[in-house]
Amino acid sequence: MSAHTGRSSAVTVVGLGPMGRALAAAFLAAGVPTTVWNRTPGRDADLVAAGARAAASAGEAVAASPLTVVCVVNYDASDAVLREEAVTAALKGRTLVNLSADTPGRARDTAEWAARHGVRYLDGAIMTPAPTIGTDDAVFLHSGPEELYEEHRPVLAALGGTHTHLGEDPGRAAAYDIALLDIFWTAMAGYVHALALARAEGVTGAELAPFAQGIAAILPPLFTEFAADTDAGTYSGAINPITSAVSTMTHVVHAAEAQGIDASLMRVIEGQARRVVARGHGSDGYSRVADVITGR
Ligand code: NDP
Repeated sequence: MSAHTGRSSAVTVVGLGPMGRALAAAFLAAGVPTTVWNRTPGRDADLVAAGARAAASAGEAVAASPLTVVCVVNYDASDAVLREEAVTAALKGRTLVNLSADTPGRARDTAEWAARHGVRYLDGAIMTPAPTIGTDDAVFLHSGPEELYEEHRPVLAALGGTHTHLGEDPGRAAAYDIALLDIFWTAMAGYVHALALARAEGVTGAELAPFAQGIAAILPPLFTEFAADTDAGTYSGAINPITSAVSTMTHVVHAAEAQGIDASLMRVIEGQARRVVARGHGSDGYSRVADVITGR
């Protein structure tokens, strides 16, 4: 018999998109009694077959367990479900963990709403794709009252992977999430632009990809170095001063525009770097841009 079969460790999952379904499946696989609900009916068939209880309403769903995990597209969606009077009333005295993605401000606003309504609240973010849930590769970030996190940690551990509590500020998990998404999307934008530029020059994606992996391998030590720069406010450009970096950015702009490819993204990047030079910091490293874009 599983350690989780008692009702005290029961969980409700609200939101059955790809991620919500993965969360519910992991709870079920770990033997946690699981109730599920989704705005659009019919998304729970596999979960019910695996032993989940299907609730007829969101209010009934949250009333079924001491802990509700909500995972919907954003906080407009979680508000639409949770701020309905019957649902808010049913949540009173229970714990809500919101694993939907949104901004730190929305997370803090939800924590305030929860406090006003006697709902015990933890915020969180999931940093890995749905197929990782229930495996060692899953990464969860949590923020909010530490005691509450510790209380529910054993049940949340059923989701697998690593769970990190980042502090009492409910917006902190979302702050990490937003910063990490910033890296992800700008990197993806750079890569798809590079694929388009390479293709225009007669280089296939397959030909470029191994060298792109080489560029990716340069990044981890730079992440550490730049983090130290922005923390300390010192920006050594000994190896690659920004005057030299700007010149390579200009090459990308010219080559793209010569092929009729939108170079607006690189123009923005080049413009930010030129502002660093114009302010007399041309011998600093590229990380100095972090100051210029925040008006320092
Ligand atoms: P989506 O982001 O597409 O969210 C779908 C879910 O949101 C469905 O349950 C949908 O209900 C619900 N929803 C949307 N609008 C509303 C609304 N107005 N009222 C009630 N419910 C609503 O799919 P995922 O499951 O993939 O993602 C859920 C969250 O997890 C997102 O915040 C996402 O960023 C995050 N995440 C997802 C990852 C992934 O790999 N999928 C990875 C990391 C984080 P309905 O079925 O009725 O439309």
